[in-house]
Amino acid sequence: MTTSPLAGSPGPTHGPAGADDGPITVEQLRDHVLGTVQPLPAHAQPLMEALGLPVAEDVHSTIALPGFDNSAMDGYAVVHRDVATASAEYPVHLPVIGEIGAGQARLTALAEGTAAKIMTGAPIPAGSDAVVPYEWTDRGESSVWISQAPEPGQHVRVRGDDIAEGDLLVEAGTVLTPRHLGLLAAVGRDRVRCRQRPRVVVLSTGSELRDAGQELGHDSIYDGNSYLLAAAARAAGAIAYRVGIVPDDTGRFTEALADQLVRADVVVTSGGVSMGDFDVVKEALRGIETMWFGPVAMQPGKPQGFGTVGEDATPVFTLPGNPVSSYLSFEVFVLPALRKMMGMTPHVRPSVRARVTHGVTSPPGRRQFLRGSYDEDAGTAYVTPIGGSGSHLLGNLAVSDALIVVPEETTSLDAGETVEVIRMDVPF
Ligand code: AMP
Ligand code: MG
Repeated sequence: MTTSPLAGSPGPTHGPAGADDGPITVEQLRDHVLGTVQPLPAHAQPLMEALGLPVAEDVHSTIALPGFDNSAMDGYAVVHRDVATASAEYPVHLPVIGEIGAGQARLTALAEGTAAKIMTGAPIPAGSDAVVPYEWTDRGESSVWISQAPEPGQHVRVRGDDIAEGDLLVEAGTVLTPRHLGLLAAVGRDRVRCRQRPRVVVLSTGSELRDAGQELGHDSIYDGNSYLLAAAARAAGAIAYRVGIVPDDTGRFTEALADQLVRADVVVTSGGVSMGDFDVVKEALRGIETMWFGPVAMQPGKPQGFGTVGEDATPVFTLPGNPVSSYLSFEVFVLPALRKMMGMTPHVRPSVRARVTHGVTSPPGRRQFLRGSYDEDAGTAYVTPIGGSGSHLLGNLAVSDALIVVPEETTSLDAGETVEVIRMDVPF
């Protein structure tokens, strides 16, 4: 019997397929991750919370838009027959019986032989069938001279010409943009069903780490990863809690993780999963039978861990500490999981093909993700490698917008060869 606060309900040892014979592939771990995490429940969320989330219902309109015939111009509501002959040479003269403002429409009917001032958006009075814009009149107050004839129905926005009652406004699965939210509000919806955003707790491990703003010692470095990963989680649409630094102490790591489970739908840790003497994450979690640790045939990002901990079987990603490895691991494993939890498809970011502008080399048996910059010229896509393959090269990562994916069996690519490219900043 284990007494760890991180132990889940007992069960068979869980791990990715193929985990017993050496490194597993990216797909084997990702399939295991996507088989483990589940979509979060959907509920009616306030519109502004729903921006960027896929809607979990077909939304139909319960009203028409416009809701009533209204004026498209500032001018005069008229009976078309009265003004049909109006011209500059023979203007038509009509008495003005009142004024109709948007939201101030006391005058609701118009008799033949009269006109009413009307403002944009104000309801067309019964009996009127055209609006004469100010520009075609002398803008008279008690009577008006009209020097140009509108067509029948001109400058009248007809009830329901935009949206009819019952129209499908947004289909289930659509990711909500500001335009969708504007439409939903315009038909009176203040909430819309979406899945909860996953709450992602980010923990950095390492006794060498200091938070930005603190003083550095001769052997310490700033913790970039908790910002990198928390920001990546937020950019994916999740709610990120950046817990910050946990020192290389198994007890303190276990305690910090256990404390965070109450508010976590997902935990992401960085560091402490390699073969070093102070790899506390592995140390703390390796005894938990629902956790898996092992090598993945990729570079960077070889040491990985994933599983579930605690009573609620909270998914935990234990990413390697090198910043580029950490970020790549997020992109390859965590991002698809967060998207599945939010009900977003596709889970995995689609890739494109591009010509590599410079030759590159890659180790055999591992899928390499090189950093690069994507460009298009005269209909041809190019990708330029940026920096070397070192997984500490954060400066290069920051100016990259693409990952060059060199397959396991490929050890070199010549300039001009076509390669798979993941564009990191393109929404999908
Ligand atoms: P680890 O996976 O803990 O062995 O860390 C591998 C390398 O990444 C070491 O050089 C660490 O100092 C560095 N590293 C670990 N965590 C972070 C972090 N949060 N921010 C920046 N570098 C880190
Ligand atoms: Mg470490």
